Amino acid sequence: MARRRITIFGATGSIGENTVDLLTRQGGADAYDVVALSGGRNVARLAEQARALKADLAVTAYPECYDDLKAALAGSSVEAAAGTDALAEAADRPADWIMSAIVGAAGLPPGMRALKHGTTLALANKESLVTAGPLLLATAKAHGARILPVDSEHSAIFQALVGEEIDAVERIIITASGGAFRDWPLDALANATPEQASSHPNWDMGQRITVDSASMFNKALELIETKEYFGVDPARIEAVVHPESLIHALVGFRDGAIMAHVGPPDMRHAIGYALNWPDRRDLPVARLDLAQIGQLNFRPACEKRWPALRLAREVMQAGGLTGAAFNAAKEAALDAFLARRIGFTQMAEVVEDVLGRLSRDSTLTKSPLSLEKVLEVDHLAREAAAEAVSALA
Ligand code: NDP
Ligand code: MG
Repeated sequence: MARRRITIFGATGSIGENTVDLLTRQGGADAYDVVALSGGRNVARLAEQARALKADLAVTAYPECYDDLKAALAGSSVEAAAGTDALAEAADRPADWIMSAIVGAAGLPPGMRALKHGTTLALANKESLVTAGPLLLATAKAHGARILPVDSEHSAIFQALVGEEIDAVERIIITASGGAFRDWPLDALANATPEQASSHPNWDMGQRITVDSASMFNKALELIETKEYFGVDPARIEAVVHPESLIHALVGFRDGAIMAHVGPPDMRHAIGYALNWPDRRDLPVARLDLAQIGQLNFRPACEKRWPALRLAREVMQAGGLTGAAFNAAKEAALDAFLARRIGFTQMAEVVEDVLGRLSRDSTLTKSPLSLEKVLEVDHLAREAAAEAVSALA
């Protein structure tokens, strides 16, 4: 097989590091041509990765970090670049497999751009599907590009569907650990701190997605992601709390059979599956000893404890640009919580308030979906969220 050309957006993050780890174990620069790696502020690590993988290009998203990146790459053959245009230029460089692992809506434009070149996009950035699902899929289709899901639940569903017809699917169930506060009394949630919300019982992930797991905004995004990626009626998509995080998703078929995907909570499985697809290769994830595990537990995902789940249903029902508004409001509310401007439970209040305001006219549901429109709604929702935060703070 020809050497594959690889690019990683968000290489310095949790998904990015795991991707670099797998590439390195599978031969690194001896086995792959690494085209570009991108990062944000952690330019020291970005430069280290780029040197080790002999990348052609390293891009920091922030122009003010350019000099530091350039200095960290001194004496190497790696080219340095910075800013949004440089990210777009990196997406234009021919590649066979691109990992989309920037956090937040900022991950959408480079991924969209890469799809226009017919590249295979391994998609960890769930915000891309939430904000612009139909546009992303249409772009991939128009350019013969493939999107491989990397979010663990969606990789699990994708694997359960191999050899199956989507028409045979009766229901899709994604599991949720319940995050840091699943056993807290409801009335204690209002006073939960960013530190408390930033520790996950099972998964080791970036801080933002960890807090989103405690609030279940992560699961809310994933419900929408499921609808968009697999094209399934929202009424057929469920979430269930599964504290052990060993079953990632289940697909129920019309004959009553349910296929469950079971594995350790280690993102290198889903990343490795996307990297080696359609083959399977040895991966450095723990093997489960089921007799030792003994039992698996499930509980209902309570919408009173996690109002984000109820909001996700409203977003799936409304469609159009509602996902873009929802995601941007969620990102702004999360920023405000991390900055201690609002409390933990107020994040959902802010998002609900923004959705209410922006749905007053029909812009969200009637406007055609374009990247420009998504970015415009993203901006409007962040402004509305800032007002909602000020009113609460
Ligand atoms: P991290 O916060 O760990 O990493 C984010 C990456 O994006 C870093 O490389 C960071 O750079 C970069 N970055 C941050 N802000 C920007 C920006 N504005 N523009 C460009 N680059 C930026 O995130 P995760 O790895 O946890 O998550 C990445 C994506 O994958 C998210 O969409 C998340 O929802 C999804 N995901 C993550 C999972 C996980 O296990 N972590 C599981 C499933 C999905 P730097 O750090 O250098 O500043
Ligand atoms: Mg997930």
